[in-house]
Amino acid sequence: MSVTVRAPAKINLHLGVGSLGADGFHPLATVYQAIGLYDDVTVHDAPSWAVEVRGERHVRVLDVPADDDNLAVRAGRALLAHHGLERAARIEIHKGIPVAGGMAGGSADAAATLVALDRLWDLQTPDDDLLEVAGRLGSDVPFALLGGTALGEGHGEQVSAVDDAGAWWWVAVLSDRGLSTPEVYRRFDERLDGLRLPAPEVPGALRVALGQGDPGRLAQTLANDLQAPALDLRPDLAAVFEAGASVGALASLLSGSGPTVLMLCDGMPHAQEVTAGLTALGHESVLAAPGPVAGAHVVEYA
Ligand code: ATP
Repeated sequence: MSVTVRAPAKINLHLGVGSLGADGFHPLATVYQAIGLYDDVTVHDAPSWAVEVRGERHVRVLDVPADDDNLAVRAGRALLAHHGLERAARIEIHKGIPVAGGMAGGSADAAATLVALDRLWDLQTPDDDLLEVAGRLGSDVPFALLGGTALGEGHGEQVSAVDDAGAWWWVAVLSDRGLSTPEVYRRFDERLDGLRLPAPEVPGALRVALGQGDPGRLAQTLANDLQAPALDLRPDLAAVFEAGASVGALASLLSGSGPTVLMLCDGMPHAQEVTAGLTALGHESVLAAPGPVAGAHVVEYA
């Protein structure tokens, strides 16, 4: 028997970052949205842990560890430890989410594995326990379980759904190499040069724009505190932001810690136009995706 679970990429409509805390984490105030780029994770009972990684053309699968470092395997082991069980599984990952692109693909795989193994082994883990195990695996993992549009607090792992009346369309411009999240945070700290920031907050205007489902309003409230440090590390990305403006995107925003750049569009036909415009300008990996979409969910029992 096998179970396949699909989990979405995440973007951050607002990513407010505070000063590094004594616990080694940066406090975050973020609004996540799950968008329609997915990884599928299939699990089978097996005598020992194994993982295989495949993916779509735009995904650099060779950058994903195919051993115990894979977040999916770590998730499987964490779920078993939670239940005090000893078992193992073979995990097949089919990636549609860019690797090291600031869209939390590894976290999506971890969330998908938690749900898939829970169903494969009929563990009946309560949702709150799954969220807790997820939060220990990584800041973005609980959101990959929840999906939709959600507020993220703490270091992003404390998630709660947010009212979202929109049917948004995004265009994601991928980069030919990844950007390390820890390096972007280090640059963020360097830029502060010892200055202590107030606790980060999500602006009320963003919640209003989401509640109204108004792309023009949302475009004015998108913000990411990691954008400036990421652009310090990757000044070439400035050209992608300029390209977004020149093809008429409503707004451009760095996705998480980058290097993917997101462009907000005014519906699907506009997203297709923006995609075509960017492709004509020579951008090779450009994907259009709707949001919000569901969190990790079973797509097949076989
Ligand atoms: P972060 O979640 O740290 O913001 P990201 O969204 O930019 O990162 P991911 O695709 O999640 O990027 O991958 C970050 C790194 O995690 C990769 O470079 C890879 O080495 C490692 N990794 C471990 N497991 C996985 C996995 N299942 N899928 C993708 N990357 C993984």
